Amino acid sequence: MTGVMDAAVAAAREAGATRLLGIKVSIGEANEAVEDALRFAFEALAEADPFTEGASLELTMVRPRSICLECGHEYEHDLYDRFCPACDSFATELIAGRELTIDSIEVDLLES
Ligand SMILES: [Zn+2]
Repeated sequence: MTGVMDAAVAAAREAGATRLLGIKVSIGEANEAVEDALRFAFEALAEADPFTEGASLELTMVRPRSICLECGHEYEHDLYDRFCPACDSFATELIAGRELTIDSIEVDLLES
């Protein structure tokens, strides 16, 4: 979460913002990070700096997605259900669901 916060703050400052108001983040369900832990970490980080104090966090969970290396089928799945639904192969590769990306940030540009 520190990396996400750093990136958001850097982007906000670059845009000439006086405050960071909120961040929208997509998080893959296959990421080890737990939603509650992320929120807790975010709030702790946000409170530590007047620039980010009170900023909100909006999380979008992204379902894991894999591609079958046998038949090329692409499919969404639960975290521990990764065999190919088309050919039952276990030779699959995770192509989405581990991400932790910033979709957008909201900033305050006033009081310049
Ligand atoms: Zn397959």
